[in-house]
Amino acid sequence: MINDKLVLFLIQNYDDVLRAPLSGQLKDVYSLYVSGGYEDCIKDLGSGQESLLQFEKFWDDLKDIIFATPKSIQFEQNLLVAERPEKIIFLDVFSLKILYNKFHPFYYALKSSSSSSDMKMSSVTPKTDSGEPQLLGRLLNVLNWDDNVKNQGLPREQLSNRLQNLLREKPSSFQLGRERAKYTTKVIEYIPICSDYSHASFLSTSVYIVNNKIVSLQWSKISACQENHPGFIECIQSKIHFIPNIKPQTDISLGDCSYLDTCHKLNTCRYVHYLQYIPSCLQERAHHDTASQNKEIESNVLTPFYTLGNCSAHSIKKALPAQWIRCDVRKFDFKILGKFSVVIADPAWNIHMNLPYGTCNDIELLGLPLHELQDEGIIFLWVTGRAIELGKESLNNWGYKVINEVSWIKTNQLGRTIVTGRTGHWLNHSKEHLLVGLKGDPKWINKHIDIDLIVSMTRETSRKPDELYGIAERLAGTHARKLEIFGRDHNTRPGWFTIGNQVTGNRIYEMDVERKCQEFIKNKNNSHNTGTKKSDKKSNSKFQQQQYWNNINNSNYRTEIKQKNSNKNQTGFESTQQQFQTLNNLYFAQ
Ligand SMILES: [Zn+2]
Ligand SMILES: [Zn+2]
Repeated sequence: MINDKLVLFLIQNYDDVLRAPLSGQLKDVYSLYVSGGYEDCIKDLGSGQESLLQFEKFWDDLKDIIFATPKSIQFEQNLLVAERPEKIIFLDVFSLKILYNKFHPFYYALKSSSSSSDMKMSSVTPKTDSGEPQLLGRLLNVLNWDDNVKNQGLPREQLSNRLQNLLREKPSSFQLGRERAKYTTKVIEYIPICSDYSHASFLSTSVYIVNNKIVSLQWSKISACQENHPGFIECIQSKIHFIPNIKPQTDISLGDCSYLDTCHKLNTCRYVHYLQYIPSCLQERAHHDTASQNKEIESNVLTPFYTLGNCSAHSIKKALPAQWIRCDVRKFDFKILGKFSVVIADPAWNIHMNLPYGTCNDIELLGLPLHELQDEGIIFLWVTGRAIELGKESLNNWGYKVINEVSWIKTNQLGRTIVTGRTGHWLNHSKEHLLVGLKGDPKWINKHIDIDLIVSMTRETSRKPDELYGIAERLAGTHARKLEIFGRDHNTRPGWFTIGNQVTGNRIYEMDVERKCQEFIKNKNNSHNTGTKKSDKKSNSKFQQQQYWNNINNSNYRTEIKQKNSNKNQTGFESTQQQFQTLNNLYFAQ
């Protein structure tokens, strides 16, 4: 038997039932129903046992209604799955009215044209964490006022499914972004490596090696080999071969040196090392092929079409040239730099190893005001072993959410993964970790292009793969401001700002940054000038050091820009060295 009073209650109160504060909560709906005086027989709410029984009856009545008109009431959970759902999310007033009319004929005048507005979609739309209604809910609310939909007469559920499917679909901007990345990412020169070990051993008997360099090949021996091994010469001319560099001290039974080409003791190390052999014609061909491919790719860059991160200005405007500031990151005022879309940080975590560069301790790193660098955007933080947890913690402290972790699989000179890693207590390390932190909700990020894996060769100690720059640039676009902290000279790159105590001098193109930087140096100078009179000898040497930095920063960098432009490697540095010398002399003369 249908409880017609309950039906009437739902029709008359559908708005209150679905909207906050009730939000369709079954228990609260029941309370409203009881207090609304629809049910005469429900009395004595105080007694717990009885009200429980009456709630059961209320639920049974609801089930009867659903049984009579299956789609009139919809719950958050599927009725088949949940024994008793907790929340009503949808009431179809139109079908409830039809049901009510069965008991009270012609109580409601029902015209099909008014049906759409009667069938009000739940105004309690699914909430996101931030409390903002989800897109689907907003769209459906808009559609309630859309005459076209009324005329089409699509059942509401069908419409909602259609919308959900549409929303689930990846927008074409993803597709476009990926395609653009595919057609505009420059290729890197690639020559395959020969996998036939016998080739290397044939070659080793027919080369002259002087001072760890291949001087010449005995072609007569190679031709002889070719007779027994057809394809040998073609292989030499199309692939890289690694020739064992056998020296008097080499003990072949020991196997490959785990450092290979990066071994520092090449003249005494007893393990096997290799020399790379690429015929010059092959090298030239690879150069030429890569250059022509990249030329074509560069012409693709000029096609102005819009993707996230790469506006059409991409085609006419080049990225800013590389900029850098030499500074002690721990004492630098990050406000000078302004805000960035992407930040890369490669801190020298204080792992207990003899590394050729200074390490900061963890407390110092955690204390860095990195939260000042971005309002929204992405940060890439290199971490090692124990520092992984610390890195995650730091990112949280700086206002980031860790959204990904990129692994860099390291390969060696021979193009193989490193199986004899130099670090690791239990298992040898042959990869490195890069945490990806996200701040805010940047809509401009170009998603779904790169993967969370980099496979590339190791270079100098602690030098990270350049592939990361590509990933960052594709995510944020070429014109986004990008910063690298703790960078070195080899890290400077167009479109990027690099800071660290190991870059050579300064180069700043952005006027506001330059001005703020000057002010910072001036203020620092002043404070130090007044401070030194009282201080002892120890801090005097600090002062001298400071003067050295300041001098580089103040007067010299303009000339340095010119010098660096003409000769990036040495000139700038020499001049600062001279300056240091003069300063030294001055200081000791006093
Ligand atoms: Zn070969
Ligand atoms: Zn070695």
